[in-house]
Amino acid sequence: MKVLVAVKRVIDFNVKVRVKADKTGVETANVKMSMNPFDEIGVEEAIRLKEAGIATEIIAVSLGVAQCQETIRTALAMGADRGILVQSDAELQPLAVAKLLKAIVEKEKPELCILGKQAIDDDCNQTGQMLAALLGWAQGTFASKVKREGDRLLVTREVDGGLETVKLKLPAVVTTDLRLNEPRYASLPNIMKAKKKPIETLTPEQLGVDVAPRLVTLKVEEPPKRQGGRKVASVAELVDKLRNEARVI
Ligand code: AMP
Repeated sequence: MKVLVAVKRVIDFNVKVRVKADKTGVETANVKMSMNPFDEIGVEEAIRLKEAGIATEIIAVSLGVAQCQETIRTALAMGADRGILVQSDAELQPLAVAKLLKAIVEKEKPELCILGKQAIDDDCNQTGQMLAALLGWAQGTFASKVKREGDRLLVTREVDGGLETVKLKLPAVVTTDLRLNEPRYASLPNIMKAKKKPIETLTPEQLGVDVAPRLVTLKVEEPPKRQGGRKVASVAELVDKLRNEARVI
């Protein structure tokens, strides 16, 4: 089974995000970028499927600026076999990404696509669902466990109040949740080996996809500063403040 894993280049999760002075977006110049954490989990899951003899080849796909090559190299160093970069300087919104991934799926014919449940930069949580809809494939979102059973895939999902297990017909789209696995670190020899693994570069035009944004961001603002905390001497004082100052009870 060929597995396609989407890996997005995002601002590193340790970086404090700053809003641009003109409020058009967030500052990305001179900021550390890394693979979206949910996508690292996706790469790890694909590697585990390969180690279990279920996956035969893992293709890591990233869409965006030329530096997304680095994100693909990280996936290759973890254990993916080859990469595809769809290079574009345009803003790629989830629908455009889903259409581009669909075009790659039609070319590569994988049986499984693994995406993160959300990208930590836009928090859209849309791309996997859109891709499944465009392909007409089954989908298992927010996966915390993935198991192959014959020609089906059992996906345990984290839902409100518990876990739900769905049985998917392959081919399918799976999106990863945090508890699915703990991604491995790439070893130095594997980082060296990854330099020799192939990365194909394509463009949206070559794939025949119109990536024009459908949404306009009006403005991006910092959340309001949190007020400092205060200690109260008694429950009575707390109730009084909640009632008369905060006016929440
Ligand atoms: P989103 O719907 O934007 O929250 O993203 C969900 C998932 O879609 C991510 O975790 C990635 O697996 C995939 N994805 C979204 N945008 C890209 C991109 N530009 N390149 C590669 N994968 C992407």
